[in-house]
Amino acid sequence: MTHLLSVYTLARPVDTWASSPGAAWQDAGACIGSDPARFHPSGWGEKHAAQVADARAVCETCQVVAECLAWALDTRDGHAILGGTTPAERATILRNRQRRAKAAQRKAGA
Ligand code: SF4
Repeated sequence: MTHLLSVYTLARPVDTWASSPGAAWQDAGACIGSDPARFHPSGWGEKHAAQVADARAVCETCQVVAECLAWALDTRDGHAILGGTTPAERATILRNRQRRAKAAQRKAGA
């Protein structure tokens, strides 16, 4: 059985999962059994958009989508559809977090 995140982890330092508390959530992913390529859209334009939508449809049924997204944000994953988001969407989430943190720091210092 192929598991997207298991395959994905092979390219990462071995301790990535081992050091992740509660990493067993990966076993509950709706992508278990999926071809990992399904979550790595290629191409451009409508083809790319259709591939993203296809992967996102799997994530929308996933009971661990929040855990997966948190992991993808923590690890700064930059390649796959994870937690129902594209790498660009996660980059936006991270930028917005940074902006909010800086604004909170400025407010606290004012
Ligand atoms: S959110 Fe998507 S990529 Fe993450 S475990 Fe669930 S189905 Fe897999």
